[in-house]
Amino acid sequence: MILSGKDNRCHMNAREALKVYYGYDSFKLGQEDVVDTILAGRDVLAIMPTGAGKSICYQLPALLLPGITIVISPLISLMQDQVSALREAGIPAGYINSSLTEAQISTVYERTRQGAYKLLYIAPERLESDEFNQFVDSIDISMITVDEAHCISQWGQDFRPSYLKIVDFVERLLNRPIIAGFTATATEEVRNDISCVLKLRDPKTVVTGFDRENLYFEVVESRKKDEYVLTYIKAHPADSGIIYCATRKNVDSLYEMLIGEGIPVAKYHAGMSSEDRIENQKDFIYDKSPVIVATNAFGMGIDKSNVRFVIHYNMPQSIENYYQEAGRAGRDGVQARCILLFSVQDIVINKFLLENKALTDIPDEDIELIRERDIRRLQLMEGYCRTSGCLRNYILEYFGEKKDSPCDHCGNCDGAFTEIDMTAEAKLVINCVYEAGGRYGMKVVLGTLLGANRARLKELGTTEYKTFGALKDRSESNLRKLVEQLLSEGYLYQTDDRYQVIRIGNIKPLRDPNTHVLVRFPQKTQYEHMAKERNRRGTDTLTKFGYELFETLRNLRLEIARGEGAPPYIIFNDKTLISMSAKVPRDKSEMLNVPGVSETKYEKFGARFTQAIVQFLNDHPGVTTSIEEKATEAGYHDNSSAAIGAPSARVEYNRKMNRPDGAGASWTEEEDRQLEKEYHAGMSIPEMAKMHDRTKGGIRSRLRKQGPIE
Ligand SMILES: [Zn+2]
Repeated sequence: MILSGKDNRCHMNAREALKVYYGYDSFKLGQEDVVDTILAGRDVLAIMPTGAGKSICYQLPALLLPGITIVISPLISLMQDQVSALREAGIPAGYINSSLTEAQISTVYERTRQGAYKLLYIAPERLESDEFNQFVDSIDISMITVDEAHCISQWGQDFRPSYLKIVDFVERLLNRPIIAGFTATATEEVRNDISCVLKLRDPKTVVTGFDRENLYFEVVESRKKDEYVLTYIKAHPADSGIIYCATRKNVDSLYEMLIGEGIPVAKYHAGMSSEDRIENQKDFIYDKSPVIVATNAFGMGIDKSNVRFVIHYNMPQSIENYYQEAGRAGRDGVQARCILLFSVQDIVINKFLLENKALTDIPDEDIELIRERDIRRLQLMEGYCRTSGCLRNYILEYFGEKKDSPCDHCGNCDGAFTEIDMTAEAKLVINCVYEAGGRYGMKVVLGTLLGANRARLKELGTTEYKTFGALKDRSESNLRKLVEQLLSEGYLYQTDDRYQVIRIGNIKPLRDPNTHVLVRFPQKTQYEHMAKERNRRGTDTLTKFGYELFETLRNLRLEIARGEGAPPYIIFNDKTLISMSAKVPRDKSEMLNVPGVSETKYEKFGARFTQAIVQFLNDHPGVTTSIEEKATEAGYHDNSSAAIGAPSARVEYNRKMNRPDGAGASWTEEEDRQLEKEYHAGMSIPEMAKMHDRTKGGIRSRLRKQGPIE
């Protein structure tokens, strides 16, 4: 293809604008394609997952096109967030929604007529207002962006009738602008719906890969979910995260537990007053409560980029829901974790929720169809929880992307599983349920099979069963897992009443000798897993000093954010701060080389960050902050292999062995002095180990050698 002069100029301008306004040197996958298509005047339908950098795709052309771009967005909170982010970036933008007074709306109209904005965000309901329709005749619209375009599809879960008005609105305009639709929903039927209903003209469909490489997926089968969540939060005190629960009751009880443990958390669900919800959402966005416990009512329109983990306390109802919610982690591109805590009870809860889903104004035959689809989605979600294959690939295949090899960066790729054929045991379980005549629940069945010496079993007479003690050499937890699997595969079923007795289901398939019951057991415990992840954090490229600098810059960012009344990540995101801590820019030109630092941002905040960095370097002369970049002068002291510095064979070895980076390094006088002080100040050995990035054994033997302990 030969680019015309005009295209070339646009192209250059787009890249320039990317650097000047956003501080990036290059586009993310798919972005450039969308931007170029729009600038060439063609309609576009972009299918991009959350976190793929969707907004840049229309904001950038909006800047370069002659007139104004109208962005139709269903979410008021997102609108306000985006507009303040745009203003911070020096891009003139405004919004009109129900949160403004009539007088404020008139002012926005007036300013728009004067050409004060390049982007104007509106809610779809606005399109029906006469006043608005008169107003648009007086302005020059270059593009209409339809955000969350799947809301137009009656097949989708988020159908918004007001979206159907978009087409009428466009047709009334004197000049048809470019139409650009954006969605994260990839199914074929929704995609076609959008294209048809919006009447896109010869649209270019751009589908960016659904993979989010910085997200680490993990399924943890756990019956002690509270304990898991608490341990996780305690192990990651500096991290911001979301914990999704299936019900309001779950949210309330988990919230109470965490508050009781002294953890600063917020909560969010539809049962709370709207003031409380807004307040709590703010606390989370502004990092006052870095962790929030919520139902899936939370998150639509949350643009917080530094969410480091999303834990699902219960299995969600579909992979679409899961990927969208989990995808709120790591939008800044830094490593983040998506953990799903799975238990068989989740399937029961979800079936109940689906059966009681309100389906009003829908014809009966459609209701049937919707229910069938819901159940199918739930089954595929369950499949994700049970697979021993690569979790990332499972999700990608669900969205139609085939992968050749496992990702090597998810819980299943990392953790080895053993699949055990328990067909013979399964038959004994079924025999036991048969002998019990379907009168008893899990506890009695397990106790009987294990041959437990309990008065209750004698009383019930199960000690006389043929299957009494038939599996006495097994552990209770393994056997429970088997029974749970038999329940989920339908060989057995549990009644819904409060006794929850176990009965025989459809056992026909088991008569076929080719049918096997395979039960999957993880080879390591969930807590070993947590220990392993310390090597995978975004700040891993930083040395101990680098991390200290990162913390300093983070505090500075928080201070500025409080002053500006803006969320911290709007100032600079975590990735940018990590990069600053590694590159230690000391002046404007160095600072502009840091990804995410634009001219505008530099003018506003840059000097305070360079000052902080220079101050830090003065306080810590000669230190190295990054293991990848030798940004600062010579090593810590002569014996460079001993310094916490450049990547050495030792550091690499430590990482392989899952030991702290500093383990095995020789001690400096300064460190010895610090160690002694810390010891006399009453710090514990684990605390000191963390402080020095060394092993507990290393600290103990040093203290012994230096005299403080025997
Ligand atoms: Zn994987």
